[in-house]
Amino acid sequence: MSDKIIRILHLYSNDMNIYGDRGNILVIKRRLQWYGYTPEIVEYNPGDKFPDNINIVVGGGGQDSGQNKIQKDLLSIGPKLIELANTGTPMLVICGLYQLFGKFFKTSSGEIIEGIGLLNIETFGKSERLIGNIVTHSQQFGDIIGYENHSGQTFLGNNVSPLGQVRLGAGNNATDISEGVIYKNVIGSYLHGSLLPKNPAIADFLIKTAVINRYGKFKTINIDNHFTDLARQTALKRPR
Ligand code: GLN
Repeated sequence: MSDKIIRILHLYSNDMNIYGDRGNILVIKRRLQWYGYTPEIVEYNPGDKFPDNINIVVGGGGQDSGQNKIQKDLLSIGPKLIELANTGTPMLVICGLYQLFGKFFKTSSGEIIEGIGLLNIETFGKSERLIGNIVTHSQQFGDIIGYENHSGQTFLGNNVSPLGQVRLGAGNNATDISEGVIYKNVIGSYLHGSLLPKNPAIADFLIKTAVINRYGKFKTINIDNHFTDLARQTALKRPR
């Protein structure tokens, strides 16, 4: 085992973790090992002490009720997460936590769930859910493939950029073909599936950034992505 440790904070692993989002943690863990690092996963749930020396932050999606359950605690750790983002910590937040890293999520029943405002985005719940397979494209990561299921429609403010442009599916909202967000080293996205097993370029971005932040340099090696590529090819042919 390598003595080079990378610490991954898994935010709200009990309540914000649907459609296989835990797979994102498994991919980061395994690829870190392949690159020669020792991953340490720290699960964080409401009331826990906020851990030190975190190198990557990952959080998943959840029902509106799950978002309500964690919201008070999330607001209490918001300043710590913002400080980590400001110092370049890579983060990946999916769907429910993506929304709550923004300013607010106004649910379809009219309730406002306040977010931490790390991302300049606003989300409005609609009666019609956006559900199905989704493919987007980004210059940095190529085709990004996943599955979406959300009532919230998210609109980006200034100083944040979309993660990708939608080729199949809906994305952030039903109107502007943007999907997800990238701000500093923070990535937000609606894509479950989970995201990272089929999109290792994003996993490698998080890993490389974390390693450079902690150890100053990152030496890449060739990882055999044969099965990933086959999964991507199949997923790209699926109908919505
Ligand atoms: N409850 C939120 C919505 O419906 C988030 C859903 C999710 O995380 N899949 O928009």
